[in-house]
Amino acid sequence: MPAITADTLTLPRLPELPESATDWRGVRRIVPARTFVEGEGFQVRRPFPGVDLSLADPFLLLDHMGAVEYGPGEAKGAPWHPHRGFETVTYMIDGAFQHTDSIGGGGLITDGATQWMTAGAGILHNEMPPQEMIAKGGLFHGVQLWVNLPRELKLVTPRYQDIEARDATLLSSPDGGALVRVIAGTLAGHDGPGVTYTPITYLHATVSAGARLDLPWPRDFNAMVYVLSGHGAIAAERRPLDEGQLGVFGPGAALTLRAADVQPASSPGGWEILVLGGLPINEPVARYGPFVMNTRQEIVTAIEDFQSGRFGQIPAEHLAHRGPADEELP
Ligand code: MN
Repeated sequence: MPAITADTLTLPRLPELPESATDWRGVRRIVPARTFVEGEGFQVRRPFPGVDLSLADPFLLLDHMGAVEYGPGEAKGAPWHPHRGFETVTYMIDGAFQHTDSIGGGGLITDGATQWMTAGAGILHNEMPPQEMIAKGGLFHGVQLWVNLPRELKLVTPRYQDIEARDATLLSSPDGGALVRVIAGTLAGHDGPGVTYTPITYLHATVSAGARLDLPWPRDFNAMVYVLSGHGAIAAERRPLDEGQLGVFGPGAALTLRAADVQPASSPGGWEILVLGGLPINEPVARYGPFVMNTRQEIVTAIEDFQSGRFGQIPAEHLAHRGPADEELP
């Protein structure tokens, strides 16, 4: 169950969109997430990058971590590693990640909190389960999103934003059947807490069984829905979209989403979805592991800068925990 819940009847309401006078977006593609192993060996489901990255632009990657119930000693993380040229956004639905970085940012991301890290010119960080979780185990469920930066901002000064669960902007569908948590960007005039360089909207919605959620959406943004759990359908054509699937929308001014009448036991609150979109950057993408630049030469420079220590230093008290990440790079 997501940590952030609320009585939807007391929240600000999203507007009712007129059925026939609204330019609803249709379905462009349904993409199943593929499974990968990250960091020290935790499994993620990754709907993109997939076949066509331009569909996701300005987003680069979405990793769905869990939901998994770790036993004692099983929780794993990602030891010290670099990033340059984009932003990582980690949203913890259940459980916790401990973050530390080379610019003094850090903290526990837990139960509905979001950590927004602008790697920009270069940063080193680690993302680890807290010691208590490693010792005792527990439920772990989160998402990491990579947001690209345009050429003129790729080398911006690194920045860290700690967004607590209570900071998320909460909204309700007109009949109270859906709870929407705005993490970043604006939805129907309501701003989320995340400050973004690239214009995006990023939200997590819980849609009760049988309920409908209609969202006005900027015409110049792309639009995608990723299902964390449960059953539902998207667009007027009601294309089914279930756990681990990404729906990519075509052009238009609004999204219509509907939770199935019967939800699985694994998703007791209803259909749990992420809805995200942004202004495409439309620039060439050169990516190599944790570096995302515009050209291959800029990737070579990033590797050289990292290897010569220009991404900063691992805090001294963490050197004993240094992982193998740098040895994996050429
Ligand atoms: Mn990272």
